[in-house]
Amino acid sequence: MSDNLLTDVVGRAREIVAAGPICDSCLGGAFGRLGHGWSNEERGRALRTVLSVVGIEATAGRCWICHDLFAEAAAWAGRAREKVVGIEFSTYLFAVKPTLRWQEAERFFVERFGLTHAEPQKHAWNRSVGKAFERLVGRGTVDFYDPDIKLTIDADTAALEVRIASIFFRGRYRKLARGIPQTHWPCRRCRGRGCSACGGTGKQYPESVEELVAGPFVRAAQGSGATLHGAGREDIDARMLGSGRPFVLEVSEPRTRTVDVAALEREVNASSVGKVEVVGLRPASREAVRSVKETAAEKSYRAAVEFDGAVSPDQLSAALKALLGVIEQRTPRRVAHRRADLVRTRRLHSVSGTMCGEQEAEIQFRTDGGLYVKELVSGDEGRTVPSLAGLLGQAARVCELDVLDVAIDEEPGNEAGAMDSRSRVP
Ligand SMILES: [Zn+2]
Ligand SMILES: [Zn+2]
Repeated sequence: MSDNLLTDVVGRAREIVAAGPICDSCLGGAFGRLGHGWSNEERGRALRTVLSVVGIEATAGRCWICHDLFAEAAAWAGRAREKVVGIEFSTYLFAVKPTLRWQEAERFFVERFGLTHAEPQKHAWNRSVGKAFERLVGRGTVDFYDPDIKLTIDADTAALEVRIASIFFRGRYRKLARGIPQTHWPCRRCRGRGCSACGGTGKQYPESVEELVAGPFVRAAQGSGATLHGAGREDIDARMLGSGRPFVLEVSEPRTRTVDVAALEREVNASSVGKVEVVGLRPASREAVRSVKETAAEKSYRAAVEFDGAVSPDQLSAALKALLGVIEQRTPRRVAHRRADLVRTRRLHSVSGTMCGEQEAEIQFRTDGGLYVKELVSGDEGRTVPSLAGLLGQAARVCELDVLDVAIDEEPGNEAGAMDSRSRVP
């Protein structure tokens, strides 16, 4: 340290204490970016000692900058401890919302004394409450990016709010029965409030993949709810077979973060026999939600198709051959109310089929993600071109649809993300 800096620090400290009553934390924080291994309070006390050696005593009284808020850090930590009783966490973060007066006082303080090494008071205060909190609860490490719990203190209203971060699991599901939506649908008539049509449940369908999978997880984690994020979704009346559809389950506000994933997977499968089956469940990171939703994987389907008139095997194979390739598809009428009306270009990669009667066929398709298979068959009144109906010159519709495969490579990046998770299998 140069002599200049020494003179500068002591000189400024002298001016500061002469200006009015100030606490050790604010005095030390004025030079918070200098030196290591000292708390601001210790820095402030040391400066005060140096000044008092040469006969300069500070005025006693309430600190004009923080209004003695730093002295209350331990009391806030005590309140925080009570708030987190029964909540499992290993990382935390405090975030204070300072009063306007406090912010103005700090700004004035930094400008008036030209403090180039000052630490923002918000940071200092969050750290000092955090340290006191760690000592009180005997665990926890601060995490600025993705803490298990975030404690927000409003210095204006003296409110303390705890937010618990979600936990995530990824895996694949198979839907073995038709008529089950992927996520829960509010009743169309009452919009979820409960009415005679839905028997007071507020639901359009009695159960969903989401609810069947989430139940055991929400109970085990003592969460407030859960959301299933799927890699796309099949129609309600379509089954999801093969190796299943990748998804990420997000459990909100879990009071328990350590759950036995393998046991929960067994529980889901035992309670949803004949309806839904999950495989390969494991902990995942928050980023897994984005990656699973962004994938536009190729899909394989099997469809039972019905024609209005007789079709010969030769006619069918000629039409399927002509169908192969690029498909222009305008948003289907049945989803137009919730999707933008636009023309998408998707590819039909392979297709094969056999007639099972004069007017029925079973057809297998391999398509780009996002291609609507029902409309590929029916033509949707000319909105999908080419279509099987268009090529055959007669009406055709899908009566049963199964998704056989959702081709998603388990990307190495996703796996690494899963390993980062703090949801552990005990
Ligand atoms: Zn202060
Ligand atoms: Zn209803």
